[in-house]
Amino acid sequence: MRSWLTLRETQGKLDRSDVVQVQDRRSERRAERWAIRRGMRSLAKGRSAGCGLPGGREDGSVVLKVTDATGTSAEATTGANGRIAGFSGLWTCGMVWMCPECSVRIGAKRAEEVATVLAHHLAEGGDPLLITLTMRHHRQHSLAECLKALTVAWGKVTQGRAAQDDYALLGLRGWVRALEITHSV
Ligand SMILES: [Zn+2]
Repeated sequence: MRSWLTLRETQGKLDRSDVVQVQDRRSERRAERWAIRRGMRSLAKGRSAGCGLPGGREDGSVVLKVTDATGTSAEATTGANGRIAGFSGLWTCGMVWMCPECSVRIGAKRAEEVATVLAHHLAEGGDPLLITLTMRHHRQHSLAECLKALTVAWGKVTQGRAAQDDYALLGLRGWVRALEITHSV
């Protein structure tokens, strides 16, 4: 996906064994996400406008929390080990498509969920398959049109008699879908 994350300058290869480099990269990325979120606040209406501001708690308090990341999902997704500091009591908008901070947080959670499903499937002797389907379009097609066509097409692939027959024939148990929207000049 050419998300906002890929619009930045390409960064050099990270030496994961160097804790200082890892921490610096993490800090840079967070600063970048926060800068984008600040920009978003001035444009967004409703939920997203308040993301990252006090309001997560009734009394409006914000607390600095230090947690041990080792062995947790934070370690798996950010490469952090040892202690991580974070704020508690901030409002989060939860807008996965809009918000740079929430999309990373929700993406990490979903990655964990998919990993759980795959591990279960593998343990039962199943084979996971990864398929990438691309959608051709031209300049005059709007994103809304493309998404509408995709919804119809995906429905035809996964629902109805023919799809059910394919499921039975191939022993297909289900699917997990991720939608990626690319961006170009
Ligand atoms: Zn947010």
